Amino acid sequence: MVDSHTYKNHSITKKDLCPRAIKVLESLNKAGHEAYLVGGAVRDLLLDKTPKDFDIATAAHPEEVKRTFRNSRLIGRRFRLAHVYFGREYLEVATFRAPHDAGSENAGKTANDGRITHDNVYGTLEEDALRRDFTINALFYDLKNKEIKDYAGGIQDIQDKQIRLIGDPEVRYREDPVRMLRAIRFAVKLDFTIHPETEAPIYKMGSLLKNIAPARLFDEALKLFHGGQALETFQALRRYDLFQYLFPQTENDLLEEQDESFLTFIEQALKNTDQRINSGMSTTPAFLYSVLLWARVQQRFMLYRESGQPIYQSTHLAATDALNEQVKSTAIPRRFSNVSREIWILQSRFERKDCGSSLALIEHRRFRAAYDFHCLRAQAGHIDISECEWWTEFQKLNHEEQLEQCKEFARPRKKRRRRKKK
Ligand code: ATP
Ligand code: MG
Repeated sequence: MVDSHTYKNHSITKKDLCPRAIKVLESLNKAGHEAYLVGGAVRDLLLDKTPKDFDIATAAHPEEVKRTFRNSRLIGRRFRLAHVYFGREYLEVATFRAPHDAGSENAGKTANDGRITHDNVYGTLEEDALRRDFTINALFYDLKNKEIKDYAGGIQDIQDKQIRLIGDPEVRYREDPVRMLRAIRFAVKLDFTIHPETEAPIYKMGSLLKNIAPARLFDEALKLFHGGQALETFQALRRYDLFQYLFPQTENDLLEEQDESFLTFIEQALKNTDQRINSGMSTTPAFLYSVLLWARVQQRFMLYRESGQPIYQSTHLAATDALNEQVKSTAIPRRFSNVSREIWILQSRFERKDCGSSLALIEHRRFRAAYDFHCLRAQAGHIDISECEWWTEFQKLNHEEQLEQCKEFARPRKKRRRRKKK
């Protein structure tokens, strides 16, 4: 340690950084600006994990960053940032900011409920550290001097494996309630505990999440459920009573079910999602939503059926009800919700195995997702496992074999309409 905030004795070296981050840091330094690697990357490197992205913080103002890099673009209103491009990818370069109550005319504004609504006050390195959320996210790596700057006690908390908010936790949660979700996400991801003073307010302040824009909660939900630890995160969110603010219908349906069959279904889905992500396979939010809203869709479906609607219309109407209600809390862009809808609609088609239906179904563009969903229902014990196995086998056959297989199933006979006699 050089002064009380500077650490020389740490494990990060230049070769841990991606070449692009090195280039940006060195160019900014060369142009005379202080610049650091910051946030998740420093935290993850200290924990021997591979960072997701390399964010840069600098004393240079956005316009100066823009002047330093020809291939850069300024973005954001609430938060003016520079993106420095490398082909289609970019690194984020942010100017040091002061806490929201500093400065004068241009100061960050706080809404009546304490939320930060405007955040463009430039500040010093120390101020920038202290406006960040958790101590472990407020570490700055200086490539030139090979030092880490720690103004919030993040190094100690990394050693103690704890998530701790900087400043007064209640004030920080009121400023930005999403920090409650982030605390849980990082605790699960890093296998850290949440410091008691950071943890306690979560139980009473969760309802502040109702003020967060559904689109922002969608982004957060993806980080929570597509990070490779969805099952554990889901269980933690429920333990902290926060899941209800993301997926209120799901929480309700979980509380009301007599057995644990919906819970089993969700947990199995999240386990599968984690497995896929951890083995590098793709996942879509559409699948997540189709799982979480499934109980509600089925309930609404039954009601529409009872009121005399045909199967197809009933599923559509049920899907619309569930999705419309959902987007009031956590949004889902239409390109995904349309896929969820298709997954639900295709479920009844797995019951029909005659050649006409089965061959058309495996050619359907959503067959893969709908089949996974169908098998998930079997895995959770909602339908017989042989139902899933039949389709698993059927897909593998060549066309002649498929014809042989489906031939055994008669095409369901259409009900003949009786003609009225004239
Ligand atoms: P991840 O590995 O999930 O990307 P991260 O720490 O990099 O983790 P980001 O959401 O990418 O998280 O944010 C980058 C940095 O910005 C954080 O490390 C933190 O310092 C700061 N930050 C992000 N969100 C907030 C917030 N809501 N309040 C205060 N600071 C935040
Ligand atoms: Mg990040």
